[in-house]
Amino acid sequence: MYVFILPVWRIFLLKYTRDYVVDFISGNSINTASLIKSSRDLKLKYYGEKIIIRGLLEISNYCINECLYCGINSKNNRVKRYRMNPDEIFRAVKLAYMNDYRSFVLQGGDDPYYSDDLLLKLIYSLKSEFNDIAITLSLGERSYDSYRMLKSAGVDRYLLRHETVNKKLYSLLHPRQDFDNRIKCLYNLKELGYQVGTGFMVGLPSQTYNDLYNDLVFIDELQPEMVGIGPFIPHKDTKLRDAQKGNVDEILRILVLLRNILPKALIPATTALGTASNEKQLIALNNSANVVMPNITPIDYKKDYQLYDNKKSKTVEELISNGIQISKVKGDHYDFRKKLY
Ligand code: SAM
Repeated sequence: MYVFILPVWRIFLLKYTRDYVVDFISGNSINTASLIKSSRDLKLKYYGEKIIIRGLLEISNYCINECLYCGINSKNNRVKRYRMNPDEIFRAVKLAYMNDYRSFVLQGGDDPYYSDDLLLKLIYSLKSEFNDIAITLSLGERSYDSYRMLKSAGVDRYLLRHETVNKKLYSLLHPRQDFDNRIKCLYNLKELGYQVGTGFMVGLPSQTYNDLYNDLVFIDELQPEMVGIGPFIPHKDTKLRDAQKGNVDEILRILVLLRNILPKALIPATTALGTASNEKQLIALNNSANVVMPNITPIDYKKDYQLYDNKKSKTVEELISNGIQISKVKGDHYDFRKKLY
Protein backbone atom coordinates (compact mmCIF):
# COMPACT_ATOMS: atom_id res chain seq x y z
CA MET A 1 0.00 0.00 0.00
CA TYR A 2 2.80 2.41 0.92
CA VAL A 3 4.34 1.84 -2.50
CA PHE A 4 1.59 3.88 -4.07
CA ILE A 5 1.74 6.67 -1.54
CA LEU A 6 5.51 7.04 -1.70
CA PRO A 7 7.11 6.78 -5.12
CA VAL A 8 10.59 5.29 -5.42
CA TRP A 9 12.34 8.59 -6.00
CA ARG A 10 11.15 9.85 -2.66
CA ILE A 11 12.56 6.99 -0.66
CA PHE A 12 15.19 9.37 0.66
CA LEU A 13 12.49 11.04 2.71
CA LEU A 14 13.11 8.33 5.23
CA LYS A 15 11.57 10.15 8.12
CA TYR A 16 8.17 9.74 6.54
CA THR A 17 8.57 6.20 5.28
CA ARG A 18 9.21 4.04 8.35
CA ASP A 19 6.49 1.48 7.62
CA TYR A 20 7.46 1.20 3.98
CA VAL A 21 11.14 0.70 4.81
CA VAL A 22 10.45 -1.87 7.52
CA ASP A 23 8.17 -3.80 5.14
CA PHE A 24 10.79 -3.64 2.41
CA ILE A 25 13.67 -4.83 4.62
CA SER A 26 11.64 -7.68 6.08
CA GLY A 27 10.60 -8.89 2.63
CA ASN A 28 6.92 -8.03 3.02
CA SER A 29 6.83 -5.40 0.32
CA ILE A 30 5.11 -6.42 -2.90
CA ASN A 31 6.86 -3.95 -5.14
CA THR A 32 10.58 -4.61 -4.93
CA ALA A 33 11.36 -4.63 -8.66
CA SER A 34 11.13 -0.87 -9.21
CA LEU A 35 13.40 -0.08 -6.29
CA ILE A 36 15.96 -2.67 -7.43
CA LYS A 37 15.84 -1.23 -10.94
CA SER A 38 16.38 2.33 -9.75
CA SER A 39 19.25 1.15 -7.51
CA ARG A 40 20.99 -0.46 -10.47
CA ASP A 41 20.30 2.53 -12.73
CA LEU A 42 21.79 4.94 -10.16
CA LYS A 43 24.88 2.81 -9.69
CA LEU A 44 25.44 2.67 -13.46
CA LYS A 45 24.81 6.39 -13.82
CA TYR A 46 27.55 7.39 -11.37
CA TYR A 47 30.04 4.52 -11.57
CA GLY A 48 29.31 2.45 -14.67
CA GLU A 49 29.53 -1.34 -14.88
CA LYS A 50 32.95 -1.74 -13.33
CA ILE A 51 33.43 -2.67 -9.70
CA ILE A 52 36.11 -0.72 -7.86
CA ILE A 53 38.82 -2.77 -6.16
CA ARG A 54 40.35 -1.71 -2.83
CA GLY A 55 43.20 -3.71 -1.35
CA LEU A 56 42.53 -4.51 2.30
CA LEU A 57 45.64 -4.74 4.46
CA GLU A 58 44.94 -5.98 7.97
CA ILE A 59 47.85 -4.37 9.77
CA SER A 60 47.19 -5.50 13.36
CA ASN A 61 44.93 -7.81 15.32
CA TYR A 62 45.81 -6.22 18.66
CA CYS A 63 42.82 -4.37 20.06
CA ILE A 64 42.09 -2.58 23.31
CA ASN A 65 38.33 -3.00 22.84
CA GLU A 66 36.04 -5.79 23.96
CA CYS A 67 33.34 -5.87 21.28
CA LEU A 68 31.23 -8.89 22.15
CA TYR A 69 30.87 -10.03 18.52
CA CYS A 70 34.46 -9.64 17.36
CA GLY A 71 36.98 -12.46 17.14
CA ILE A 72 39.97 -10.19 17.83
CA ASN A 73 38.52 -8.51 20.91
CA SER A 74 41.08 -8.07 23.69
CA LYS A 75 39.45 -10.72 25.90
CA ASN A 76 40.01 -13.49 23.36
CA ASN A 77 43.25 -15.08 24.49
CA ARG A 78 43.16 -17.77 21.82
CA VAL A 79 44.19 -15.27 19.14
CA LYS A 80 47.79 -15.30 17.99
CA ARG A 81 48.46 -11.56 18.00
CA TYR A 82 50.49 -9.79 15.30
CA ARG A 83 51.14 -6.29 14.14
CA MET A 84 52.87 -5.10 10.99
CA ASN A 85 55.62 -2.53 11.39
CA PRO A 86 55.87 0.41 8.96
CA ASP A 87 58.42 -1.41 6.75
CA GLU A 88 56.17 -4.43 6.41
CA ILE A 89 53.20 -2.20 5.59
CA PHE A 90 55.23 -0.32 3.02
CA ARG A 91 56.38 -3.56 1.37
CA ALA A 92 52.83 -4.98 1.26
CA VAL A 93 51.52 -1.80 -0.37
CA LYS A 94 54.39 -1.82 -2.85
CA LEU A 95 53.70 -5.42 -3.83
CA ALA A 96 50.01 -4.69 -4.44
CA TYR A 97 50.92 -1.46 -6.26
CA MET A 98 53.07 -3.52 -8.63
CA ASN A 99 49.93 -5.61 -9.21
CA ASP A 100 48.12 -2.41 -10.25
CA TYR A 101 46.22 -1.67 -7.02
CA ARG A 102 45.70 2.05 -6.49
CA SER A 103 43.40 2.06 -3.47
CA PHE A 104 44.44 0.74 -0.08
CA VAL A 105 42.63 0.25 3.20
CA LEU A 106 44.84 -0.12 6.27
CA GLN A 107 42.66 -1.74 8.90
CA GLY A 108 43.33 -3.02 12.38
CA GLY A 109 42.07 -3.35 15.88
CA ASP A 110 42.26 -0.22 18.03
CA ASP A 111 45.99 -0.67 18.65
CA PRO A 112 47.89 2.13 20.47
CA TYR A 113 51.14 0.96 18.82
CA TYR A 114 50.03 3.06 15.82
CA SER A 115 50.84 6.44 17.32
CA ASP A 116 50.28 9.64 15.38
CA ASP A 117 54.02 9.93 14.82
CA LEU A 118 54.34 6.43 13.39
CA LEU A 119 51.31 6.85 11.13
CA LEU A 120 52.33 10.30 9.90
CA LYS A 121 55.78 9.03 8.85
CA LEU A 122 54.20 6.00 7.20
CA ILE A 123 51.62 8.04 5.28
CA TYR A 124 54.24 10.56 4.10
CA SER A 125 56.48 7.80 2.84
CA LEU A 126 53.64 5.94 1.08
CA LYS A 127 52.28 9.09 -0.53
CA SER A 128 55.68 10.31 -1.69
CA GLU A 129 56.63 6.93 -3.16
CA PHE A 130 53.22 6.25 -4.77
CA ASN A 131 51.66 9.56 -5.71
CA ASP A 132 48.59 8.15 -7.44
CA ILE A 133 47.09 6.07 -4.64
CA ALA A 134 44.20 6.56 -2.24
CA ILE A 135 44.76 5.63 1.39
CA THR A 136 41.87 4.72 3.64
CA LEU A 137 42.46 4.15 7.33
CA SER A 138 40.22 2.01 9.52
CA LEU A 139 41.89 2.12 12.91
CA GLY A 140 39.00 3.04 15.15
CA GLU A 141 38.33 6.05 17.34
CA ARG A 142 41.06 8.69 17.55
CA SER A 143 41.18 12.30 18.67
CA TYR A 144 40.16 15.23 16.46
CA ASP A 145 43.82 16.30 16.33
CA SER A 146 44.96 12.87 15.27
CA TYR A 147 42.42 12.76 12.43
CA ARG A 148 43.44 16.33 11.45
CA MET A 149 47.15 15.50 11.23
CA LEU A 150 46.53 12.28 9.34
CA LYS A 151 44.37 14.13 6.85
CA SER A 152 47.05 16.72 6.23
CA ALA A 153 49.64 13.94 5.81
CA GLY A 154 47.58 12.66 2.89
CA VAL A 155 45.04 10.15 4.18
CA ASP A 156 42.05 10.30 1.83
CA ARG A 157 39.36 8.30 3.57
CA TYR A 158 38.41 6.86 6.95
CA LEU A 159 36.18 3.90 7.71
CA LEU A 160 34.44 3.79 11.06
CA ARG A 161 31.20 1.85 11.19
CA HIS A 162 28.69 3.13 13.72
CA GLU A 163 27.73 -0.60 14.11
CA THR A 164 24.20 0.08 15.39
CA VAL A 165 22.37 3.27 16.16
CA ASN A 166 20.48 1.60 19.00
CA LYS A 167 22.33 3.14 21.96
CA LYS A 168 21.32 0.46 24.44
CA LEU A 169 22.39 -2.34 22.13
CA TYR A 170 25.58 -0.45 21.30
CA SER A 171 26.62 -0.23 24.94
CA LEU A 172 25.79 -3.90 25.58
CA LEU A 173 27.99 -4.91 22.66
CA HIS A 174 30.83 -2.47 23.38
CA PRO A 175 31.62 -2.49 27.11
CA ARG A 176 34.61 -0.18 26.69
CA GLN A 177 33.20 2.29 24.19
CA ASP A 178 30.87 5.22 24.18
CA PHE A 179 28.30 5.54 21.39
CA ASP A 180 28.32 9.34 21.47
CA ASN A 181 32.08 9.43 21.02
CA ARG A 182 31.86 7.14 18.00
CA ILE A 183 29.27 9.39 16.38
CA LYS A 184 31.33 12.45 17.24
CA CYS A 185 34.35 10.86 15.53
CA LEU A 186 32.28 10.42 12.37
CA TYR A 187 31.19 14.07 12.37
CA ASN A 188 34.80 15.15 13.09
CA LEU A 189 35.98 13.16 10.08
CA LYS A 190 33.29 14.79 7.92
CA GLU A 191 34.29 18.24 9.12
CA LEU A 192 37.94 17.54 8.30
CA GLY A 193 37.08 16.74 4.68
CA TYR A 194 37.67 12.99 4.63
CA GLN A 195 35.67 10.68 2.43
CA VAL A 196 33.93 9.09 5.38
CA GLY A 197 32.72 5.54 5.64
CA THR A 198 30.29 4.21 8.17
CA GLY A 199 28.00 1.20 8.32
CA PHE A 200 26.39 -1.42 10.48
CA MET A 201 25.89 -5.10 11.04
CA VAL A 202 22.60 -6.84 10.36
CA GLY A 203 21.35 -9.63 12.60
CA LEU A 204 22.90 -8.55 15.88
CA PRO A 205 21.19 -10.24 18.85
CA SER A 206 17.94 -8.42 19.72
CA GLN A 207 18.30 -5.95 16.82
CA THR A 208 14.90 -5.07 15.32
CA TYR A 209 13.74 -3.88 11.90
CA ASN A 210 13.06 -0.57 13.51
CA ASP A 211 16.75 -0.40 14.55
CA LEU A 212 17.76 -1.04 10.94
CA TYR A 213 15.40 1.69 9.77
CA ASN A 214 17.04 4.03 12.32
CA ASP A 215 20.48 3.04 11.00
CA LEU A 216 19.38 4.21 7.56
CA VAL A 217 17.99 7.45 8.98
CA PHE A 218 21.34 8.10 10.67
CA ILE A 219 23.17 7.45 7.40
CA ASP A 220 20.83 9.81 5.60
CA GLU A 221 21.70 12.50 8.16
CA LEU A 222 25.48 11.91 8.14
CA GLN A 223 25.72 11.66 4.33
CA PRO A 224 28.83 9.47 4.34
CA GLU A 225 30.74 8.82 1.12
CA MET A 226 31.09 5.09 1.86
CA VAL A 227 28.81 2.64 3.62
CA GLY A 228 29.65 -0.95 4.56
CA ILE A 229 26.83 -3.24 5.62
CA GLY A 230 27.36 -6.89 6.42
CA PRO A 231 25.75 -9.73 8.33
CA PHE A 232 26.79 -10.38 11.90
CA ILE A 233 28.56 -13.76 11.81
CA PRO A 234 29.37 -15.50 15.11
CA HIS A 235 32.93 -16.28 16.13
CA LYS A 236 33.49 -19.45 18.14
CA ASP A 237 35.62 -17.77 20.82
CA THR A 238 33.31 -14.85 21.61
CA LYS A 239 30.36 -14.38 23.95
CA LEU A 240 28.05 -14.39 20.92
CA ARG A 241 29.27 -17.77 19.67
CA ASP A 242 25.77 -19.29 19.80
CA ALA A 243 23.88 -16.37 18.28
CA GLN A 244 22.20 -16.61 14.87
CA LYS A 245 23.99 -15.05 11.92
CA GLY A 246 22.43 -12.16 9.98
CA ASN A 247 19.99 -12.71 7.13
CA VAL A 248 21.66 -12.09 3.77
CA ASP A 249 18.40 -11.38 1.92
CA GLU A 250 17.71 -8.55 4.34
CA ILE A 251 21.15 -7.18 3.53
CA LEU A 252 20.48 -7.28 -0.20
CA ARG A 253 17.28 -5.30 0.35
CA ILE A 254 19.00 -2.80 2.66
CA LEU A 255 21.70 -2.23 0.03
CA VAL A 256 19.01 -1.49 -2.54
CA LEU A 257 17.45 1.07 -0.19
CA LEU A 258 20.85 2.53 0.55
CA ARG A 259 21.71 3.07 -3.11
CA ASN A 260 18.40 4.91 -3.51
CA ILE A 261 19.11 7.04 -0.43
CA LEU A 262 22.75 7.81 -1.32
CA PRO A 263 22.98 7.39 -5.10
CA LYS A 264 26.65 8.39 -5.33
CA ALA A 265 27.95 6.37 -2.37
CA LEU A 266 30.79 3.89 -2.54
CA ILE A 267 29.06 0.74 -1.33
CA PRO A 268 31.12 -2.43 -0.88
CA ALA A 269 29.74 -5.92 -1.22
CA THR A 270 31.36 -6.81 2.08
CA THR A 271 33.60 -9.75 2.87
CA ALA A 272 31.11 -10.80 5.56
CA LEU A 273 28.33 -10.90 2.95
CA GLY A 274 30.56 -12.99 0.64
CA THR A 275 31.45 -15.29 3.54
CA ALA A 276 27.78 -15.85 4.35
CA SER A 277 26.77 -16.32 0.71
CA ASN A 278 28.91 -16.20 -2.41
CA GLU A 279 25.78 -15.98 -4.56
CA LYS A 280 24.24 -13.07 -2.62
CA GLN A 281 27.49 -11.11 -2.77
CA LEU A 282 27.38 -11.39 -6.56
CA ILE A 283 23.73 -10.25 -6.60
CA ALA A 284 24.70 -7.24 -4.47
CA LEU A 285 27.42 -6.37 -6.99
CA ASN A 286 24.89 -6.57 -9.77
CA ASN A 287 22.17 -4.49 -8.08
CA SER A 288 23.61 -1.92 -5.73
CA ALA A 289 27.20 -2.37 -4.55
CA ASN A 290 30.15 -1.00 -6.51
CA VAL A 291 33.23 -1.89 -4.43
CA VAL A 292 34.98 -5.09 -3.35
CA MET A 293 37.93 -5.34 -1.00
CA PRO A 294 40.24 -8.24 -1.82
CA ASN A 295 42.61 -9.11 0.98
CA ILE A 296 46.26 -8.15 0.44
CA THR A 297 47.45 -9.07 3.96
CA PRO A 298 50.65 -11.17 3.91
CA ILE A 299 49.77 -14.83 4.13
CA ASP A 300 51.46 -15.39 7.51
CA TYR A 301 49.18 -12.81 9.16
CA LYS A 302 45.94 -13.23 7.23
CA LYS A 303 44.82 -16.37 9.09
CA ASP A 304 45.01 -14.54 12.44
CA TYR A 305 42.63 -11.71 11.50
CA GLN A 306 39.49 -13.76 12.15
CA LEU A 307 36.70 -11.33 13.02
CA TYR A 308 34.16 -14.13 12.56
CA ASP A 309 34.27 -17.83 11.69
CA ASN A 310 35.41 -18.98 8.25
CA LYS A 311 36.10 -15.48 6.95
CA LYS A 312 36.56 -15.74 3.21
CA SER A 313 37.49 -12.88 0.93
CA LYS A 314 37.34 -13.13 -2.85
CA THR A 315 40.43 -12.72 -4.94
CA VAL A 316 40.46 -10.59 -8.08
CA GLU A 317 40.70 -13.80 -10.12
CA GLU A 318 37.58 -15.22 -8.46
CA LEU A 319 35.69 -12.00 -9.12
CA ILE A 320 36.65 -12.05 -12.79
CA SER A 321 35.79 -15.72 -13.16
CA ASN A 322 32.35 -14.90 -11.73
CA GLY A 323 31.81 -12.41 -14.55
CA ILE A 324 32.54 -9.27 -12.50
CA GLN A 325 34.24 -6.47 -14.42
CA ILE A 326 36.76 -4.82 -12.14
CA SER A 327 38.71 -1.60 -12.09
CA LYS A 328 41.82 -0.99 -9.97
CA VAL A 329 41.46 2.77 -9.83
CA LYS A 330 41.81 5.18 -6.91
CA GLY A 331 38.06 4.93 -6.70
CA ASP A 332 37.13 8.29 -5.25
CA HIS A 333 33.54 9.11 -4.41
CA TYR A 334 31.81 10.78 -7.38
CA ASP A 335 31.90 14.24 -5.76
CA PHE A 336 35.62 13.91 -4.94
CA ARG A 337 36.76 12.94 -8.39
CA LYS A 338 39.12 15.26 -10.22
CA LYS A 339 38.59 13.45 -13.48
CA LEU A 340 36.29 10.75 -14.72
CA TYR A 341 37.74 7.36 -15.51
N1 SAM B 1 39.07 -1.21 14.91
C1 SAM B 1 38.39 -0.61 13.82
C2 SAM B 1 37.02 -0.16 14.21
O1 SAM B 1 36.60 -0.42 15.34
O2 SAM B 1 36.35 0.51 13.42
C3 SAM B 1 38.34 -1.46 12.57
C4 SAM B 1 38.44 -2.94 12.73
S1 SAM B 1 36.90 -3.73 13.11
C5 SAM B 1 37.46 -5.37 13.45
C6 SAM B 1 36.15 -3.83 11.49
C7 SAM B 1 34.68 -4.22 11.44
O3 SAM B 1 34.55 -5.62 11.55
C8 SAM B 1 33.79 -3.67 12.49
O4 SAM B 1 33.39 -2.37 12.17
C9 SAM B 1 32.63 -4.68 12.53
O5 SAM B 1 31.46 -4.18 11.92
C10 SAM B 1 33.17 -5.88 11.76
N2 SAM B 1 33.03 -7.13 12.52
C11 SAM B 1 33.68 -7.46 13.65
N3 SAM B 1 33.22 -8.65 14.11
C12 SAM B 1 32.26 -9.06 13.26
C13 SAM B 1 31.41 -10.22 13.22
N4 SAM B 1 31.44 -11.15 14.16
N5 SAM B 1 30.55 -10.33 12.18
C14 SAM B 1 30.52 -9.38 11.21
N6 SAM B 1 31.29 -8.28 11.21
C15 SAM B 1 32.16 -8.12 12.23
